[in-house]
Amino acid sequence: MKKSIFFLATALLISCNSTAQKNNPEVSKKKKQMTQKTDKVVKTDAEWQQQLTQQQYYVLRQKGTDRSGDGGYTKHFEKGTYVCRACEAQLFESGSKYESHCGWPSFDDAIPGTIDFTKDSTLGMIRTEITCTKCDGHLGHIFDDGPKETTGKRYCVNTSSIKFVKSE
Ligand SMILES: [Zn+2]
Repeated sequence: MKKSIFFLATALLISCNSTAQKNNPEVSKKKKQMTQKTDKVVKTDAEWQQQLTQQQYYVLRQKGTDRSGDGGYTKHFEKGTYVCRACEAQLFESGSKYESHCGWPSFDDAIPGTIDFTKDSTLGMIRTEITCTKCDGHLGHIFDDGPKETTGKRYCVNTSSIKFVKSE
């Protein structure tokens, strides 16, 4: 009997805590800042076409895929940050990049809050598409065969979707 009262009291305490958090002004302030940070970049197809090369437009705006190989950023391992080729949002740190031998640039993690995940069942496969949160540009797909010692994830990204910015 004593035990069940203790349990009830704990449960009450937990539910009280979560209510307190909801009304915490600090938390809602943080949420607001995050929304501002990811304000959408919206452009017409014509505007994107003017800004991007044909291949970049095909990958980013029409969900195309770069040919696999060692070109582009696949074998690129300098220190810096990879930003979205279309809207310059920072997406990946070079520290997350690894050699996956899959023929595309691969990362085991992304900068938090910069990428959206969507189920993609095209081409007879079930995959998870990754897009830039800020401009909805197509980046590639995410798979569960990444390095087990870190996240286990492989963000498989097209070179055409990103741009490397060297760190000073
Ligand atoms: Zn973007």
